[in-house]
Amino acid sequence: MKKVEYDLDGKNKLYFFPEYNRFAFNDSNPEITADYYSDSLVKLRLEISHLCNGRCKYCLVYGNKVEKVEVLNVKDFWKHLENQKWFKNIKKIFIIGGEPLLHFEEISYIIDNFNGKISFSTNGTLITKEMAEKFSKSNVKVYISLDGPGFEDNINRVYINQQFMYPDIIKGINLLKEYNVKFGIFMVATPETVGQAVDMILKLDEKYSPIRIGYNLPHWTPDYKNYGLAEEFRDVLLELYKNRERIKAEIPQLKWRLSPLCDGKIKKFSCGLHTTQTTILPDKSIIRCSKIDNEKDDLKDRITNELLNKNSPIELAKNNQSDCSRCVALACCGGGCPFDGMKRFNCLTDKRECIITPPLINMAINQVVDTLKNQKANIKNGLIETNIINEIIWS
Ligand code: SF4
Ligand code: SF4
Repeated sequence: MKKVEYDLDGKNKLYFFPEYNRFAFNDSNPEITADYYSDSLVKLRLEISHLCNGRCKYCLVYGNKVEKVEVLNVKDFWKHLENQKWFKNIKKIFIIGGEPLLHFEEISYIIDNFNGKISFSTNGTLITKEMAEKFSKSNVKVYISLDGPGFEDNINRVYINQQFMYPDIIKGINLLKEYNVKFGIFMVATPETVGQAVDMILKLDEKYSPIRIGYNLPHWTPDYKNYGLAEEFRDVLLELYKNRERIKAEIPQLKWRLSPLCDGKIKKFSCGLHTTQTTILPDKSIIRCSKIDNEKDDLKDRITNELLNKNSPIELAKNNQSDCSRCVALACCGGGCPFDGMKRFNCLTDKRECIITPPLINMAINQVVDTLKNQKANIKNGLIETNIINEIIWS
């Protein structure tokens, strides 16, 4: 069993087992049962239409030429969905576009007919009082795309006529606040703004009190392929982790990387494209991912589910010569986005993860080690209980 050993006080030792995301106290060979996250299909990504009133410079839809002008007739399709066995297990629907708010009637229909969690991402420019009122009376979460708190941070977000969207986005956010709608902000790292990202996130957190602030790495697009931004992005995540007590919003990119460590569980994949999630396109086709299963690209034939399964870090680590077999983040990273992996590195792993995730996991483990130098922990069968690890990592 692979392990990393830490000295606590000259007498006691802490062991970390990267294959299992478990910690043991003074026991270098405890019995550990592998605990995987469930693989069952629970999330639906609904691409209502690829129509958009914007043309953001890094947009995946327009950047990767997945242009389609159909609009999914949700009401019509709902009857079909309700009869599907798999749909009965769906717990979350995430609506994406194009710009979903061009189709407010369709979103309203989903809000009125689906009992699980609903969220959608929007550029925020089309939000009206009527919409904000509807959202405030439902359990929908609205995610606004914004690249920072100021006008200059958002110069990549433009309308079709190249006018800047920023003033209208802020109007939309203010309406959501006025109606107490739960909303988050999604940002994309850009070369122009990544250096100020931590300050921007702190400011957004203080100014708008969103429930979440997502800070995403850019996906590959033909116009944006040279920007990997892995080192810069890693530094942002490390700083955000150091500032965790100050930030009220959840940062999903920190949370999903650290959660397996906190839960003592094993994450096989970063993206559930062939396991926990499925995607419906405007033409009603059901696919894994609109980037990988893009009809204009041969990726869909090259990326089979079998290959995805064989290339999770956990599987790759079975080869003792592999980098994954020696990696502290083995059961946390999930291999990143396979689309970016193929486009950027010609393999199913987005190797930017190898720059980003191990330092973050090491920082969290060091937090555990430092805390356990001064604090006793509950131990069961030689292993430290996961609720304590979770508390320490987020304290
Ligand atoms: S493969 Fe990549 S682009 Fe496709 S859904 Fe997953 S994370 Fe998104
Ligand atoms: S970070 Fe890289 S080396 Fe580590 S487990 Fe993930 S893919 Fe493998």
